[in-house]
Amino acid sequence: MTLTLNRPELIRNGNFINGQWQNGLQNEQYPISNPATDLLFAQATNSTADDAKLAADAAYSAFENWRHQPAKTRSQCLLRWHQLILDNTEDLARILSFEQGKPLIEARGEVTYGASYIDWFASEALRTYGDIIPNVVQGKKLMVVKEPVGVVAAITPWNFPLAMIARKIAPALAAGCTVIAKPAEDTPLTALALVVLAEEAGLPAGVLNIVTSSRDRVSDVVGAWLTDSRVRKITFTGSTAVGKILARESAATLKHLSLELGGNAPFIVFEDADLDAAVEGLVVAKFRNGGQTCVCPNRIFVHDRVYDAFAEKLVARVSSLKVGPWDQEDSQIGPMINDRAIDKIQRHVQDALQHGATLLTGGTRIQNAMATGPNYFAPTVLTNANQNMQLAHDETFGPIAPLFRFNTEEEVINAANDTPFGLAGYFYSNDIKRVWRVSDKMQTGIVGINEGAIASETAPFGGVKESGYGREGSRYGLDDYMDTKYLCQGNL
Ligand code: ADP
Repeated sequence: MTLTLNRPELIRNGNFINGQWQNGLQNEQYPISNPATDLLFAQATNSTADDAKLAADAAYSAFENWRHQPAKTRSQCLLRWHQLILDNTEDLARILSFEQGKPLIEARGEVTYGASYIDWFASEALRTYGDIIPNVVQGKKLMVVKEPVGVVAAITPWNFPLAMIARKIAPALAAGCTVIAKPAEDTPLTALALVVLAEEAGLPAGVLNIVTSSRDRVSDVVGAWLTDSRVRKITFTGSTAVGKILARESAATLKHLSLELGGNAPFIVFEDADLDAAVEGLVVAKFRNGGQTCVCPNRIFVHDRVYDAFAEKLVARVSSLKVGPWDQEDSQIGPMINDRAIDKIQRHVQDALQHGATLLTGGTRIQNAMATGPNYFAPTVLTNANQNMQLAHDETFGPIAPLFRFNTEEEVINAANDTPFGLAGYFYSNDIKRVWRVSDKMQTGIVGINEGAIASETAPFGGVKESGYGREGSRYGLDDYMDTKYLCQGNL
């Protein structure tokens, strides 16, 4: 398996700080492996706290100039970057698939999806309106203006190496903030390639800076930003555990925080649902990216009356999914990111079986003519799932669909909400009154109603409860990167 690109120069392994590619002060690298083979194929800079500080210095120096650029200038920069990303879709998709493992067809989709946030915020940059407040006393004028919060640190996960970072950088730059970014250690190359294109788009030096590091160094690198009072916001997608560390450690300098954390998404199939549509919706939502997304259904609740019929249809559909490496055009599920991910999936399946689950399909690692590496796991359907199983409480982050049985609407809503998390929830029903009732009661930031594909740059993405706060995308997405300033002019 080789990575051939039209533009090999998109592969970088340095940090990009103040408009310069550099190797890191200690000139150290760490290895990146391909999840399909587990073989090392590239290196990235193993940065230190001092590298992180240099990036923050650059972003801080660039801020005054960038924030005062006309909104149109920032918008046009973003539009040029967007176009360059689209022009290089195939190369970006290949880099993404190679380091992350997802099938090429999904990686191409991710490039377009990630780029759509840059396009969207290029337009939103032009609409950061303020307000004039009607007078309550004579001789005063009360006004509101929006200002960028300042230097933003973006920390992103490995499951969407392009979309997650684009979704953070785009609103920050649109608002007039400057950015320091640290991509996930497993998947830095896509982010670095994006930065090559941002440079080509003419982003001024210091406006976008990126540093990479191995897992061992991450708390030094990010720690340098958490304690730096010039960094005014942290925007993070990742685990709830790390999100809490960031919230705690940035409290001393009271930074703004956008935290998009773990989920434990319920997917409810009511007795009046269109079962074929529900199966399709579940397959889209559950098996995208091999089940490694924070909005993947983790608990599938099916009404007793349709349980067996739904399970049968689901198994037929799931057992036809093709598992294989990214470079086989018909692959639908790639390898898991690494052996830790496989271990967790195996633990969840074993634990479920010990607690009474029945395995209908999958359940094991697979290796076959297509899927030859160590990190492939068969798409799995389990029935008789119950609350005593680990997978009821902890996001599996893999291709496992456990079916829970329920009898009443009240019972299933209580079960669905019985989790500290609240990112996405889904349900299928053809009863319009029930649709409104259930939507109202779902304790999640996103509700898919008779729909499994919920993400869009035009809609607000984010959670409630311990799934975090802040919204990405939509007209709400820019607010998180702006302060509201009130101007009161008197003596008129
Ligand atoms: P995952 O379990 O999906 O890898 P993490 O929350 O561990 O999710 O990682 C998401 C991002 O957070 C990655 O960029 C990772 O390097 C970073 N990260 C992990 N641990 C820390 C930490 N202690 N401080 C700051 N960032 C961290």
